This record gives sequence, structure tokens and C-alpha cells, in this order.
Amino acid sequence: MSPKKLTGAEIRETFIDFFVEHGHTAVPSSSLVPGGDATLLFTNSGMVQFKDVFLGTDKRPYKRAVDSQKCMRVAGKHNDLDDVGRDDTHHTFFEMLGNWSFGDYYKKEAIAWAWQLLIDVWGLDKARTWATVFKDDQGNIPSDEEAAEYWRLQPGFQEGHVLYFGRKDNFWEMAETGPCGPCSEIHYDRGLKYCDRQHIEGHVCAVNGDCARFLELWNLVFIQYNRLGPDMLEPLPATHVDTGMGFERIVSVLQDVDSNYKTDLFTESLDVLRSLAGHTEKEMLADFTPYRVICDHTRAAAFLIADGVVPGNVGRNYVARMIIRRAARFGTKIGLTEPFLAKVAESVIETYGGFYPELTKSRTAILDNLTREEIRFARTVETGTAHLQNLLDRLRDTQTSALNGVENLGTLDGHRAFDLYATYGLPFEISRDIAREQGLEVDEEGFKAAMDEHRIASGGGKAMGVIGGEDAEFFAGILKDLQKQKKLGEHGVEYDPYTSPRVEGEVLALVVNGESVASASFGDVVAVILPKTGFYIESGGQVDDTGYIRALIPNPSPERGRESPSPFGRGQGEGESWEIEVTSMRRPSAGVIVHVGEVISGQPKAGGQAVAEVDLARRHDIMRNHTATHLLHAALHQVLGEHARQAGSLVAPDRLRFDFNHPEAMTAEQIERVERIVNDAVAADMEVSPRLKSRADAIAEGAMALFGEKYGETVRTITIAPPLNNTTASQTMELEEAAVHPTAVVEHMSKYSYELCGGTHLDRTSDVGAFLIISEGSAAAGVRRIEAVTGRGAYDLIARRFKTLKQTASALKSSIEEVPFKVAILQDEIADLKKELAALRASQAMSMFTLQLSNVQTVKDVNVMAMDIPNSNADTLRTLADQFREKYPKNGVAVLTSGRTVISVVTEDVVKRGLKAADLIAAIGGRGGGRPNMAQGSLPDGNANEALSKVIKAVEEKLK
Ligand SMILES: [Zn+2]
Ligand SMILES: [Zn+2]
Repeated sequence: MSPKKLTGAEIRETFIDFFVEHGHTAVPSSSLVPGGDATLLFTNSGMVQFKDVFLGTDKRPYKRAVDSQKCMRVAGKHNDLDDVGRDDTHHTFFEMLGNWSFGDYYKKEAIAWAWQLLIDVWGLDKARTWATVFKDDQGNIPSDEEAAEYWRLQPGFQEGHVLYFGRKDNFWEMAETGPCGPCSEIHYDRGLKYCDRQHIEGHVCAVNGDCARFLELWNLVFIQYNRLGPDMLEPLPATHVDTGMGFERIVSVLQDVDSNYKTDLFTESLDVLRSLAGHTEKEMLADFTPYRVICDHTRAAAFLIADGVVPGNVGRNYVARMIIRRAARFGTKIGLTEPFLAKVAESVIETYGGFYPELTKSRTAILDNLTREEIRFARTVETGTAHLQNLLDRLRDTQTSALNGVENLGTLDGHRAFDLYATYGLPFEISRDIAREQGLEVDEEGFKAAMDEHRIASGGGKAMGVIGGEDAEFFAGILKDLQKQKKLGEHGVEYDPYTSPRVEGEVLALVVNGESVASASFGDVVAVILPKTGFYIESGGQVDDTGYIRALIPNPSPERGRESPSPFGRGQGEGESWEIEVTSMRRPSAGVIVHVGEVISGQPKAGGQAVAEVDLARRHDIMRNHTATHLLHAALHQVLGEHARQAGSLVAPDRLRFDFNHPEAMTAEQIERVERIVNDAVAADMEVSPRLKSRADAIAEGAMALFGEKYGETVRTITIAPPLNNTTASQTMELEEAAVHPTAVVEHMSKYSYELCGGTHLDRTSDVGAFLIISEGSAAAGVRRIEAVTGRGAYDLIARRFKTLKQTASALKSSIEEVPFKVAILQDEIADLKKELAALRASQAMSMFTLQLSNVQTVKDVNVMAMDIPNSNADTLRTLADQFREKYPKNGVAVLTSGRTVISVVTEDVVKRGLKAADLIAAIGGRGGGRPNMAQGSLPDGNANEALSKVIKAVEEKLK
């Protein structure tokens, strides 16, 4: 029997279903971040979430469990990172299948079920399956003959296929003390073609040998002892089972491929990568390492981000940063220079989102974090690797001269490697990759020591410090100092988000961890004060701008630009260059505006010259949404009435959200009309004009002001109006209809929208591109909420919807236009089938009934029928009961059930003998009422068979 061709998802499903059928509770995977275990960086085995159950400090409502656990092994004792990419079997992230018994079943069942699943369900070859059991090499602990015997009892188990191994392979311990016990491993012989050591003289393939022919598939751990000390074991009062099967490995065996990466778990990711790189399959396999690393690391990063671990500088966050950067660097090896990891991650979400819904839920966070980290890395990687190369060259020179040309590994000082990280964000693992490619090493201990020193020096854990807290006085003090030094005027920092997206000036202050500092370094979260800023600060619903502040390097030489060919990074100057990614803006006290961000390269210094640039692509998306918000507001007035006033708003780059007063849900037709009016206003290419006015004038002219918003004496107004000479007659009519105040003076009749607003806007409405409403719902009592997208967001939405539609059409084997028609046909067909099925079931029940009718039991001369008629209603049951009474006009009792419905009939002569229909229903555990000769009632859910089994006895007892 050859293994069945199952997909990875099916293999996971059959594992879980198999154990659920054997009384196990399917338990979801716990997070990659272990809850309440500070000693562990990541969940690294299935045991982690059940550890406390075995230690007896936690109880679960079940005694048998089955799960597929997400695991990460990149740090600490279990560290597989070194091997990832070099071979076909190691992963940073992987899944572990397991079944668990907490003081319930033991070796007998665990072994029998393992055998059944592998051989009967999955179709593995009996003759190739081997088992190992424990035999103490130190002679102190008894051999596990019990497990050996159970293996030999399995049907078809080959003689001699039980092997004995010692403590290293077959004894499991949680820690130096605590629960422990022997284990039994299942190994599978994949055949000689999988041996990768045939060329080595004297090699013999063997279980627990060193070649790839025999694979360990599954480890069954039998916990039966408690270790008190190095030589002290006591038996546990209850015994447990803990099993673990590497998911990727079993998939590779069942799909008969020689690499985990050739299973269908990676097919989609590899396809995406290959089409990006433009490689054929043959070209890909010829240099498979970059593919393996990228697929593995992207999958791991997607799962980490879904569990809330985003790229950062310390601990788990460092791991997320490191694997993303490592994947990006391997991308350059196959010619990928634009951010590409989000595209690979989409396929990960597609492959795994069905079983791990957290991936689908965190889709945006996963894709955004990957791309952001890639862009950050790209900005510094060129310079960082150039510096590293210098260091490695120098190292090799000194090595070769010292060793007279003898090939030897030189080792780069760990502190030097840390400097590369602190300044250019080059993680240790990448420096080591590069060094190893040249036969050199990097000192890991030194790197870690330098990292710890740095962390202590920069204040350790309080990453946000004062930046996130109440710090008005602190910043007011800084402002006073700067004013004393005449570096800031009486109004403080100048604010111009409208005309100055790029500002040059001196770094007036840097604040890290709540303290003013002279300089900051890589990874620091820092607040930066400049004399002037063009970054918008969140107000009126429009979110903060983001962007970059970097060193202003005088007279950059043109050659330098060419030396840095990074396609999406920027050429970095040597020496004093640095860069801060601005992620938010704050105004902690009057006159003080701070840019909050992270140092992504170099060491910015207070007093240095800087240039601050707003991320203009993002800002443009925001402006599209802001102008569209004004158009939407006006359209709502037109469709719903003047009462539909703004009650709240969010203007973000990816969407806009608008809350307004309206007592009821909008109809589909109203939503459609609003969407159309806004899109017409976009197409009309109207002018958007900001003007400063006195508040009194603006209000008198009918500008819409927002309740609850504070306005100064001078206000900014935004007018959206058509160029009059271009307006056609019909447009004019529509625009007049739309005007905010149709009775106002002529000048304002032509205004489409007129609002008080401090936000940033497009010059013309046509820049909105397209406007699509994605939802309308309730925000609060009497307040509705609309969410919409514009421009690029609208395009993305349309593209996604089209893709879904195309997939639907292809699944239905129809054109897109025919989809509704095909679906209607399918629904009709299903309705017909349901009817047919119901009729079939009824006729089946009838024939069963007819058969039973001439075959009833007799109790004290009474003919008794007790029968369940599935999928019937009370009417059918009554009709059948009548048939019973026709056949047995005397001496007859029948109880018929269907679902929870129960009907009983008793012929008159039997009633006289003391048996009433309703009493009979009560006697079998139901509730009901009716006449003495016929009653109807209901049974507790799911108990029909149990109730029917009580009928004979009840009749016997009641009959006189
Ligand atoms: Zn071999
Ligand atoms: Zn506005």
C-alpha cells in the first residue's frame, strides 16, 4: 500500500479528526509568545501549553487533547537558525502535531492509535516502519518492555522492528527535576534512494543513524516518573502521554518528496518567488538556498506578527527584525531588489489562514510590517555591508600574513559587529552569513556582550519613556532654554503643513527615555525638535504625517550617488550620516512640536543640520481621503437632508471614516446615490481652495462648522466649487441642488462644499481618483458611520473584488456576467435536491415502518411498537400512528419519535387496563399531553433511542 496523496491541510485535519474520534478534545495552538513563562523566548514544542497540567498546577476540563502547535526555534538551547536554508529539513517556524493523555489512557492505546493512523489511515508501509523503546544504558531504570510488547502486538508489525536505545534517544525529561519517563519513537525507512551518505566508506543505513534514509516521524513520551534528584526517581500517581510529530516532516513523507520545501505547504510561496525572480523551476532548484531561507523566514515572520511580535530592537522583536532582514538579503541573491516579502506572505496567509485564522485577521499588519522593515533595511544595508566588507578584508589580510597563507577561519570581533548593528541595523546573523560565505566567523559572545552593555547604557526597557506620558512641563522647559539661546522665537516651533513638505534646519533637541541627550543611536525611540516643521499633527480627524529626518550633508559629491545603486534605498554619505524614521507627531505643550520616531541608521546629534521630509505618497493618499470626506459630507446633505451633520471623522491614508447624525440605517439605494454623487463631483474636476477668514465672516457665509470644535478668531475655510464656465446646464442644476445654502447669495450658490477645516487637501477633486463606500452602519444611538476608500485604496479594493469574482466564476465554470444566474440555478438545484432528499427519507421511513408494523413485540398480549422515524414531522408521525391503529384496533400501543417530537397511541381497551398515552410519554422521560388514547410531547434533546428503549418496560409496569 503506498501513502495516500493528501494535501498538507488534509494531513493536519486527518490527524486531529482521528484523535477526536477517539475521544480527544481538539485544542487550538497556543501563541508563539509563551504566556507566563519568562524563561522562554518562544513556544518551542507542544508541551509548553500543557506544562502546568503535567506539573499538577493547572487543570483542564478534558483528559485527552489533540492539537497542532505553532513553534519557533531560533534562540537558546533549541536553535535551528544555522541550518535553515542550508538543508531541506530545518525551519525556524514549524508545526508540531500531538495527542495528549492527562492521567487517562497510556501505552497500550497510544501505541495502537499511532499504528492505526500511520498504517490504516495514512497508508504507510508496515514493512518500512520501525519502533524504538527505552533500555537504560546506565542500568538503573527498568527497560520499557511494556511498550516493546505493545508494538509487537500491532497487526502486521514486522518481527525485529523494535529496537532498544538509551537515555539520549529514548528518555524524556522536562527539566533537571520533575515529570519524566521513557519514550518510544517511530522511524520510517524511506528507501535507499534517500540515503545521502552512500559515498562514505563503511556507511550503513540505520535507525538513529546519520543518513536521511531513516526518518524519525513521531515521538511518544510516557510520563511515569517524578525526578527528585540525579539518581532519584519516584513513580507518579497518574501516568500521562505526550506525543510530538513534526508536521512538515510527515507531510514530506506522505507526499513522497525529498525536501520539506517541496511539499504543498511551500508551493504557493515558491511560485510567487519564482515568478518575481523570473526563474524556471530548474533554475530555482539549482540554487535553492535563497528560496528556502525566504520561504521559511517569511512564514515565521507572518506567524510572529500575527501573534503581536513586530520588528524591533530587543528580545522577540529583534528576532522578527532579524529574520525579515535576513530574508530580504537572500532576496538580493536572486535579483529581488524591490520590497517583495509581502507578496510571499500573502501566499502564506492563503496556505495557512484556514487553520490559523489569526493570520487572516492580521493580514494588514503582516503585510505592512514586512514592507516597512524591508524599506528601512534597504536604506542602510549597502553602507553597512560595505563597512563589514572592509573589516573582513582587513581581518583576512592580518590572518593570511600571520599564518603564511594557510587557510584558516578568522573571527571578527563581536563589538565591531555590534557597531554595525547599532549604526546600520545589520543584525549579527546577517554579518555572520556574509562572513561565512568568505570562510570567516563572527564572535557571537562578544556581540551579545556589547548588546547588553548598550542596552544598560541606554536605559534598558523603558523604550517610550517620557515621550508617551505627561511631559508638558519638561518640554516647556526645553522651549524656554531654546528661546533664551534665541534658537526659537516667541511662538516656538513654526508649523506649516500646507506648503513645506521639506524643511531644513538645526536639530534643536533630541529626547530619549525622557531625557534630553546630545546624541542617539540605532534603534532608539527619539523625540526631535526642529525650528520648523511641515509634518501635519493629527487634528480634525486627519492623522499625523510620517516621513524621515536625516543628516543634511553639504555638497554631496555626484560620484557618491552613483556608488550607492540601492534601487529603493537612498545613497548614504559616509561619516556623519544618520536617519530617523518619523512615525508620529506631538504637541506636548504650546509652541513645542516634536517628531517622534526611531533611529534607523547612524547617530544623530543635537546641534547638527538636518532635513525633514514628509512621506509624500502617504500624504497624498491622506489628502485624497480628506477632500473626499468633504464631498461625502455634502452628498449626504443632498440625499438625506441638512440634519446629516458630521459627528466624527477619521482621515487616514488607507481609508476614511465619517460619522454623521441620522436616525436610521441608509437604504442600499441611498448609499448608491451618495457614492454616485461623490464620484460625479470627482469627475467634475472642481477646484479646492483654502482661504483664511474671520470666523464671523465664514459663519455668515454659511461655512459648515463642527459642533464641539474650538475655532480661533481667524479660521481656515475650504471651498470646493466648479469652474463656472466649464459647467454644463445639467451639472449646474445638480450643483445648485447640492449647494449648502440654496437661499444664500448668488456667490455661494455655486459652491459645492464650504467648510471650516485645518486639514490638507488636493488642489482639484479629480485627484481623488475614485470613491467607494465599503460599509454603512451604526456608530452610536442616532449616529451612522460610513467607511470609504479612494485612489489607490479604491483600486486595491476593486482589484481584490475582481479577483474574488474571477475565482467564483471559474469555480462555477461561467463568465463573470453569468455568476448571479449560475448561483440562482445552483440554489434552485439545491432546493430541488433538498425536496427530493426529504421525499426519499420519508419513503424510506415509511418502508421501515411498514416492515416493523408486522413485526411488533408483545407484552402481556399487547402489541407494542417503539420506533424512531428520522426527519419526520408531527403530522407524519400522526399518520403513521393511525396506520398502526388500523392494523391493531385492539391490544395496541405505539410510541413514535422523530428528533425531539414524540407521539404515543394506546387503543381503548388498553386504556381501560390502566395505560394512558400521556403517562407513557412521561414514563420514558418526555413531557406532553393529550387524550388518553393519543398524546404528543417532546423529549430532551438527542435522547430518542434511550427513551424508546424504556417503552417495553413502561408498558409492562403500567398494565394491570
Ligand atoms: Zn544511508
Ligand atoms: Zn476637513
